[in-house]
Formats: sequence, C-alpha cells, structure tokens
Amino acid sequence: MTERIHCIGCGVAIQTENKDELGYAPPSSLEKEEVICQRCFRLKHYNEVQDVSLTDDDFLKILNEIGKSDSLIVKIVDIFDFNGSWLPGLHRFTGKNKVLLIGNKVDLLPKSVKQQKVINWMKKEAKDLGLRPEDVYLVSAERGKNIKEVLEAIEYHRHGKNVYVVGCTNVGKSTFINRILKEVSGEENVITTSHFPGTTLDIIEIPLSDSKYLVDTPGIINHHQMAHFVDKKDLKVITPKKEIKSRIFQLNDKQTLFFGGLARFDFVKGERSSFVCYFSNEITIHRTKLENADELYKKHAGELLTPPNRDHLDDFPELVRHDFSIKEPKTDIVFSGLGWITVNEPNIQVSVYVPKGVHAMLRKSLI
Ligand code: GDP
Repeated sequence: MTERIHCIGCGVAIQTENKDELGYAPPSSLEKEEVICQRCFRLKHYNEVQDVSLTDDDFLKILNEIGKSDSLIVKIVDIFDFNGSWLPGLHRFTGKNKVLLIGNKVDLLPKSVKQQKVINWMKKEAKDLGLRPEDVYLVSAERGKNIKEVLEAIEYHRHGKNVYVVGCTNVGKSTFINRILKEVSGEENVITTSHFPGTTLDIIEIPLSDSKYLVDTPGIINHHQMAHFVDKKDLKVITPKKEIKSRIFQLNDKQTLFFGGLARFDFVKGERSSFVCYFSNEITIHRTKLENADELYKKHAGELLTPPNRDHLDDFPELVRHDFSIKEPKTDIVFSGLGWITVNEPNIQVSVYVPKGVHAMLRKSLI
C-alpha cells in the first residue's frame, strides 16, 4: 500500500489542494490521527450530501481488478429493489472467484414471508441473470440480522483469500460494512452512510485475521434506479423504513392506481382481480377510473399525487407507458426501486407508467 492518507469515512485518498474535488480535507486536519474528508464530515455532522463523481469507467476498472484477483466476492442486493440493484455484468468479471449473494433489507418484507422461499427465489433469479452464487443469504444490515451467519459463511468460503464486497449504491453496503466492523472490532460508524445514492467512494480495507482484507468497493450507480429521479425529501418517502404492509385492491378493468405521482398502474382488460401492492407505507395510493386518469395527473401531480413534491415537478421525468400481458399466475409487476404489485390470476392486460429511464418489468412472484 502507498503512504497516502485515506478518509476514515469513505476511504477516498485525502487531498488538501482543491476544495471542490473528491477527498478534500483542510490541511490542519492532517495532524489528527483519524482524517475525515470534508464530504464525510458534512454528511456526519450536518446530514448534508455532496455530489459524487465516480464514473462507470472507474467502476469497471475496479471490477476488472477483482476479476484478476484470487478472492471471494460478496455481492449485496437490496431485496426491496432486487432487479434495480442487480449489477448486470458482474458475472463477466468474477473470473474463477466464488460469489456469495446477500439480499439486504430483509426487515422490509412482511413477517409472514418465509425466508427460505425468498432465498430459493433469489437463487433462481440469479441463475437466470447469469450468476451462480455459492450460497445466498438474507440479512438486515441495519438491524444486524443474520450478520454473524454471513461472517461465518465468508470465513468458510474465502479459504484464506481476500474478500471483495460489491453492490450498487443504496443497497446498504456501507451499513453492512459498519455492521461487520462492529462484529469484528467493536467500533461503530467508521464508514459514512446516508439516504442518498452514491455516497461510498474509493475502496476501504478491513483487516481480517490472517493478513488478508475485506475490501469495500464503491457503489456503482445504476442509472435507472428510481432514487436518482427524486430529491432528498422524496427519497425519504419512497425508501421504506420498516416492514411493508401490503395493500390490496380489488379492481375491475378500466381502473387505475396512482402511486403518489411517481408511477401509475392501469388494469386494462380482464376479470375483476385483486392486486397486492408492496410499496413504502408512506406512498399514498389513489384509485380512479382509467378514463379520468390522464386528467387527474395533469391537474394534481405534485399536490394530491405526491411525491414528487411541487418544487421538484419541473425536473421530474415524464411518465412512460409499458404494456404487459400477464399469462402466468403469481406474477409481480415491478416498478424498479419503488415497489411491486402481485397478481395471482393470469390472463389480464395491464399498463404501467414509470418515469422515463426507470425500468418496469414482470417477474415470478417473490412473495
Ligand atoms: P450504500 O450506498 O450501499 O452504502 O447504502 P447505505 O449503507 O448508505 O444505505 C442506503 C439506505 O438504505 C439508507 O437509507 C439506510 O438506512 C438503508 N438501509 C441499509 N441497510 C438497511 C436494512 O438492513 N434495512 C433497511 N430497512 N434499510 C437499510
């Protein structure tokens, strides 16, 4: 390793010349034993987020390095935003290295959900997406659930090698690393965490028992994540904080649901059916007639239909329609990063509206 000083928050190399660039810390702070960059300082003390500039190129470089290494890879996804937080190309970079797949934020799933079922579901999805993990775990980094089990699994699978932790922004990677630090060293909050995507920069190395490291890589930004289209205030609303209560709607066709003003769902054609909605409890769901939906949105987006809040409405992307014909029973209609609707009965037609750039898709039901 070089002699450069790294921020104890995010791991970025400290520089003292340019205030507007990454890793800036005032020269006087270098005298301290633990140096924290200005960005992490602000985040920690004022809960204020500064823009980040980790390019996709940089991330590819890091992935390339991992591919060349002989290591264990721990990939974290957000179970609430499985597809949106998946790193699509990772399996091309893993080389011969084993991968453990971790689904974080399990505390958000309704308690009635059987975890083994979710694990099996993740295994199948991973395989379909081209990744064959050694094992799959569900954790809650925030609540410390199953962290010990994962640490044991890491120890078991790493065979004395380095461990790389990868994941896209907002999956809770920093929270996970902080948990691990707490388990292994008793220290708290060595790494900065926040609501906003893109807050983990550069790599940070945590020493393991045998002169190997657990390496926290920066989170890559998945540009189609809903989180990038709303402001900080609205992000708090759409990010669930506790167990999601499913909300069930019995709909006839030609009825519409609005999820705040962020997304819309039209039941276009089919028999009367029930639609089970899994969204942050703080997102209001409005039901209306399909024929009134356009007008309602035009008139009330930013007020009745919020978030987005009115101040942010002008920057908010237009909603784009995606049509789906549902042919399989037990299907999820996924609004990437926002939630999903489960439909049990097949043979219906629906339309989904999400902000331009955000993904909408069907998948086999998670719950
Ligand atoms: P990073 O960008 O991947 O490093 O993510 P952070 O650790 O900063 O976390 C992103 C957001 O997810 C924050 O709002 C965290 O509070 C939240 N979060 C992290 N872990 C969990 C968890 O286990 N459960 C829940 N409900 N939220 C979590």
